[in-house]
Amino acid sequence: MELYKDNQLKIYNSLSKSKELFTPVTAGRVGMYVCGPTVYSNVHLGNVRTFMSFDVVFRYLLHLGYKVRYVRNITDAGHLENDADEGEDRISKKARLEEIEPMEVVQRYTVDFHETLAEYNFLPPSIEPTATGHIVEQIEMIHEIMAKGLAYEVNGSVYFDVLKYNNSAHYGILSGRKMEDAIHNSRALDGQSDKKNPQDFALWKKADERHIMRWPSPWSEGFPGWHLECSVMSTKYLGEQFDIHGGGMDLKFPHHECEIAQSHTCSGKTPVNYWMHANMLLLNSQKMAKSTGNFVLPKEIITGDNSVLSKAFAPSVVRFFNMQAHYRSILDFASDALEASEKGYYKLMEAVNSLENIEAGKTSTFDVASWKQQCYAAMNDDFNTPILIAHLFEAVKVINQLKEDKASLNAQDLESFKATINGFVFDVLGLTNETKQDSSDKIDGVVELLIKLRKEARDNKDWALSDQIRDELIALGIQLKDGREGTTFSIN
Ligand code: AMP
Ligand code: ZN
Repeated sequence: MELYKDNQLKIYNSLSKSKELFTPVTAGRVGMYVCGPTVYSNVHLGNVRTFMSFDVVFRYLLHLGYKVRYVRNITDAGHLENDADEGEDRISKKARLEEIEPMEVVQRYTVDFHETLAEYNFLPPSIEPTATGHIVEQIEMIHEIMAKGLAYEVNGSVYFDVLKYNNSAHYGILSGRKMEDAIHNSRALDGQSDKKNPQDFALWKKADERHIMRWPSPWSEGFPGWHLECSVMSTKYLGEQFDIHGGGMDLKFPHHECEIAQSHTCSGKTPVNYWMHANMLLLNSQKMAKSTGNFVLPKEIITGDNSVLSKAFAPSVVRFFNMQAHYRSILDFASDALEASEKGYYKLMEAVNSLENIEAGKTSTFDVASWKQQCYAAMNDDFNTPILIAHLFEAVKVINQLKEDKASLNAQDLESFKATINGFVFDVLGLTNETKQDSSDKIDGVVELLIKLRKEARDNKDWALSDQIRDELIALGIQLKDGREGTTFSIN
């Protein structure tokens, strides 16, 4: 039976500002949309933290047995330099500065994004749609919004009429912004904008001569507003009403507020049931951000080639560090904190690896069922990974006692204990076993070498040496088996 049937997952919903019991639109299935990167530069570790938080949400939902359709888009057009519908398109600007095609910029940083996430052991989403691949649908949605009377055209650009929308709906429902604070265009204050009201936001912008990314539309040759793509792609792939929408806290306003307004206008429905927002990664007590230069790249952490950290760290150590904080808490990135995480990570891995050699006893001295229930309770409490990790360290203590025969587990409990630990450590948290891979490969190599030397000894009729190699390996728990195909070995 799927685990979710017996499970009570609660999610903190940014919309209601409370933890709610998770009930998907369709039983057994989850539709999840997460705003992806704007591919005009390398993703920094702050971006990766947010995506990693949702990777763990995805992993836990899969672990519970849900069929999940996880959509994470690639923003490859429409995201301007600031959130006020002003400035150049970020990708266009990069292309102009580097004298390359915008799609070369997109390709370069999409590849980098994928490589980075693979290095950090992310599961790929089910669909990864792009803004430029959905221009037709975006134009279609603008038509729909105009048909409802909530968008207007001025000089080839189309704007969403926020004040009018707010007469029958609630603009600010997610961010809590009051109308007077929900201003999108600073220039409007000086009377330089085409917008009727400064709260309005662009659905379509006419391209000026400098703007090289442009598409034909009924209003002008131009490009879609940034917020539109996410409404279009989430509706297209997940429907008018779906389960989870995620992103970093900084996307709540204006991006997600505008998404709600657009989607609600078209369908008349509340588009998203659970809004999830991940908190920021800080560096030197400030938000990690590309624009301020206050960032580290995920690849530089692995190579150690950066000015922030004392040494290189394995991707799983960084993942473990992220998971030691709850996704809704801010997290300070610093060398000493990572070193502490590294110690914890290797301690956990050592215990997990030694678990394989532990044998069942007659009775159980540890209540596995209740401990397992606490692990699930932690994840069910809005994906509380730090509490889960605390429970995993209780398990580490038990493993060490089992190794020293100071505790015992009967066969059934031992099996459940192992399965629960492996499930949470590898499947849910997405950690990889960096040490195990290394040392077990090396041990295999050394045993193969000893088998070769033993064969040489036997060929030379040096029975004393050949027996010594076999016996001393047995004493170490390594059994040699001589067969027709040669000698194989097993490690107990
Ligand atoms: P962008 O490519 O700028 O659209 O950002 C991609 C994702 O990274 C968004 O969900 C942002 O909210 C998130 N993000 C940006 N900076 C940080 C940070 N310092 N910490 C955590 N998440 C961040
Ligand atoms: Zn988005």
